[in-house]
Amino acid sequence: MSALVRFLAGFCREHSLDDKLLVVPSFVAGRQIGEALTREAGSWINLRFVTTPALAAEVLERRGDAGAARPMTSSAEIALTDRLFRELLAEGELAYFGQAGASPGLSRALHRAVRELRLDGRTSADLRAERFLVERKGRALAVLLARYERTLEADGLLDLPGLLSRAVEAARRAPLASVRILCPADLRLCRLEAELVSAAAGGRLVTVPGDAVVGLERPRQCRPLPDGQDLAGAGRLSWLFAPDRVPPEKDARIEIFRALGPANECREILRRLYAEKVPFDQAEVLAPPGSAHATVFYLLSARTGLPATFGDGIAVSFTSPGRLFFGLLDWLENDFSSDDLCCLLENGDLTLPAGAGEVPLASRTACRHLRNAMIGWGRDRYADRLSALRESKLADLAVLEGRAEGRGGEESDLDRAAALAAAAEIEALSAAIGRILAAIPGPDAGGSFDLRGLCEGFFGLVRDFGRSESDLDRRARQALLDRLGEFAAESRFPAMPLKEALDLIRTAGASLRVGASPPLPGRLHIAGLSSGGYSGRPLTFVAGLDEASFPGRGLQDPILLDEERATLSETLPTSADILRSSLFGLASVLASIRGRLVLSYPSYDIVEGRESFPSSIVLQAFRLLRGQPDLDYAALDKALPDASGFLSGAGRAFDEADWWLDRLMAEPRPDGARTVSTNFPDLAAGLAALDARAGEKLTAYDGLVDIGPLREEVDPFAGGGAVMSATRLELLAKCPFGYFLRHVLKVQPPEEVAFDRSRWLDPLQRGSLIHEILCEFMTGVAERGEAVEAVRHRPALAGIAGEKIAAARRRIPPPSDGIFESERRDILETLDIFLAAEETRETKGRPLAFEKEIAGERIEVAGGRSFRLRGFIDRVDEIGEDTYRVIDYKTGSAKPYEDLVYFGRGRTLQPALYAVAFEQMMARERPGSAPRVAESGYFFPSRRGEGHEIMVGAFDRERLRRLLDELLGLIEKGYFIAGPDAKCAYCDFHDVCVSGGPDGSKEECEANRKVFEVYGKLDEYK
Ligand code: SF4
Repeated sequence: MSALVRFLAGFCREHSLDDKLLVVPSFVAGRQIGEALTREAGSWINLRFVTTPALAAEVLERRGDAGAARPMTSSAEIALTDRLFRELLAEGELAYFGQAGASPGLSRALHRAVRELRLDGRTSADLRAERFLVERKGRALAVLLARYERTLEADGLLDLPGLLSRAVEAARRAPLASVRILCPADLRLCRLEAELVSAAAGGRLVTVPGDAVVGLERPRQCRPLPDGQDLAGAGRLSWLFAPDRVPPEKDARIEIFRALGPANECREILRRLYAEKVPFDQAEVLAPPGSAHATVFYLLSARTGLPATFGDGIAVSFTSPGRLFFGLLDWLENDFSSDDLCCLLENGDLTLPAGAGEVPLASRTACRHLRNAMIGWGRDRYADRLSALRESKLADLAVLEGRAEGRGGEESDLDRAAALAAAAEIEALSAAIGRILAAIPGPDAGGSFDLRGLCEGFFGLVRDFGRSESDLDRRARQALLDRLGEFAAESRFPAMPLKEALDLIRTAGASLRVGASPPLPGRLHIAGLSSGGYSGRPLTFVAGLDEASFPGRGLQDPILLDEERATLSETLPTSADILRSSLFGLASVLASIRGRLVLSYPSYDIVEGRESFPSSIVLQAFRLLRGQPDLDYAALDKALPDASGFLSGAGRAFDEADWWLDRLMAEPRPDGARTVSTNFPDLAAGLAALDARAGEKLTAYDGLVDIGPLREEVDPFAGGGAVMSATRLELLAKCPFGYFLRHVLKVQPPEEVAFDRSRWLDPLQRGSLIHEILCEFMTGVAERGEAVEAVRHRPALAGIAGEKIAAARRRIPPPSDGIFESERRDILETLDIFLAAEETRETKGRPLAFEKEIAGERIEVAGGRSFRLRGFIDRVDEIGEDTYRVIDYKTGSAKPYEDLVYFGRGRTLQPALYAVAFEQMMARERPGSAPRVAESGYFFPSRRGEGHEIMVGAFDRERLRRLLDELLGLIEKGYFIAGPDAKCAYCDFHDVCVSGGPDGSKEECEANRKVFEVYGKLDEYK
């Protein structure tokens, strides 16, 4: 029996009929003390458990002093501090903090300082500037605190220190005479709390001794022990910090282990419980504040059904309403990114609102339409893009209906029904998103946001569109709504930038925890070091005892430095006090434990990949255990078994993952690959492909494919199915495997509009925008029969550019005005380079055609065969009689084309192909003429291209035919092996390609010379 329970048992017996109040750190702790008292000492009556705020409320209630003041939560206090800080900053009153500017981090730090000062009974009048190391800071803090005090008074608000100090005054006037107040000696109280307890007791305060802690100085925040320490009933752990003085008869059951990270530490705890068949409700796990252990247990519990209670509750972010709240904040912060919205929908945290009598749209359907709509981001784009998508579905429908008139049939009925359903779904989706967006206020004329409006918007969204199926979710939703309501009530914030408003709202949910519970039958109990240790369970684990987590680093508060604290008050805790208090707190908890104790620490940080070391308290426990006070860390390290890791060891598996890993490590080793192949046919096919690729013999998995069944569709010599383009032929020459993926298997990279804060248009979008501008401009110039002159034509070109850029901006929203402006300037510069280059062109010629289509032109290859070519020629100039120049605009660098002679080893075929195709087309258009393309190539009108042109002149047509024959022969023979020259780093298929790239093909090349010889031949076509 712990000293506290023993004392209470005696006191309750002696004063059974008296009304008694025991001050406790939390109601959860109080309930556990009551249960331990019942369990170990029998019945008791007239004992209640109160926290200091509850005691303050009771004092005020009994004295009729409760008043009309509204109590505040800590989030409301932070919000108030933030608002006052901004006000004072704007008034120029806080020059010292002015440079840092307003931020949630600074607001939290200032609130901490204000609260600590007030909990110590300090007022703004006590903050004399000369008591601070930097006087300006002292003056600024005094100004802030004075404004804070006046605002509480004026607005009728009651923060925690206000509540306590009002209760202290009331209790001093009239203590709770009819009640016996008991206070644990080891309970660490701030000054106002200590004064309240003393004043309420009115000189009859009963100090409840805890278990003795020998060898450690008592923290200043603990009550002094009137009769000294009682060592008679103390257990061995009372001498944790004085192992040399422990009486030999004192016994304790202590074990120590280490693990690879907190997750394995938690798993090891569960493995021990399973292996030893300890019922869950016979064990309690304690962990330091801020450690990951409670989270790990929660996740294990959610995944495996582990029955558990959490003394400090669960962070609200682990609940569905919490995910919705933080997800919505991210959504706004990322400029309404459609990816963020899809995440919320796919996780089921956001339910789309439906009209009266309608069923909400399924999240998968909604996300499919959102992605197809190519929204990307931007509040205004949702309606526009969804409307465009709906229009396109209706257009599809019209086409299908047109076709159906002639044919009909079941299949076309289905297609029409699908198009109609999609249009209706998109309409419903657009309406639902409209309702969500309507709840979120936009900026004012100056671009700033009203915090109250945003809070109300979030309130409505969490209340109406969230999911709360479990009790925990319902509590989380209510807690969030309460906090948001409180923030909204703090309505006098000046309008502020969105980011600052969102950061502030984030603080409303950041520290929120829900579902705090006392230990319950059948469940493992997990608690913090300061709130646990009261369960009286026979087995206690104390985890997370690495030196960084416990007792902590002892850093000074950044606002109120230790030296300033000492000057301002005798009772303001310094960083040393906080360290001492943490150490003493745990020592006193351990001293009260009577059963078996297991200490552990994570010895390796798996994320950071570095070792971590045990806290001093682990070393003390080791010394106490061995009875050797001189043992050091090296001895501890040597004595401990290897760190527990991912392998549970025979018969200790806690869950499926443990069991599988255990099985895989068992001897004889199971044939995992065979088991996987037997059970998972798709994985079996993958393994077979790996095997096939591993050998030198080329197979279908390397790209040696029998295209027989697909010949009509993929072989351009075999039928009309495969119409080639210059890009397609060039891809075939660069990497036949890439060609196979793209044009045979038809694998395509997903088309998504990703949010990139650093860029507006990607290179493809930028290139096609410039093409559009130049095409329209040059068409006008040609129609007017003018020659390009930079000065004269600049305004006309700028006008066209302005319109096209504005239209592109409507289609693709830029991440910021700054980025848009910079890219707009860059495009205008490109156009200037174009004008200058056109003006100084040696052979001017007459622009004849733009965006000229090559629509399935037959191109001959060696041997009399042919294939069909399609494409668009950016521009054709007539430079002499029946003599032409073919130009393709390129907005990138000219570097990749610098070595081009005629065919670029098959990798740059476009100039030659377009020349041949155009000559054939012109010959048909102008019968009797003998058109000849004298130059065909690229024009680079950009800063990187410097206005250069790279042109192919007269080339050998027969060589081109031979080259095309070789190249298309690859498809004909089904040779799609990655070439030795494949540029995988720049390939769209890089992330999914399984061919092994050019490295794999080197050895295969040796073994399969016949297949690879065409690559060597291509190199001859410079
Ligand atoms: S990643 Fe390399 S081998 Fe694969 S398709 Fe692309 S270029 Fe070819």
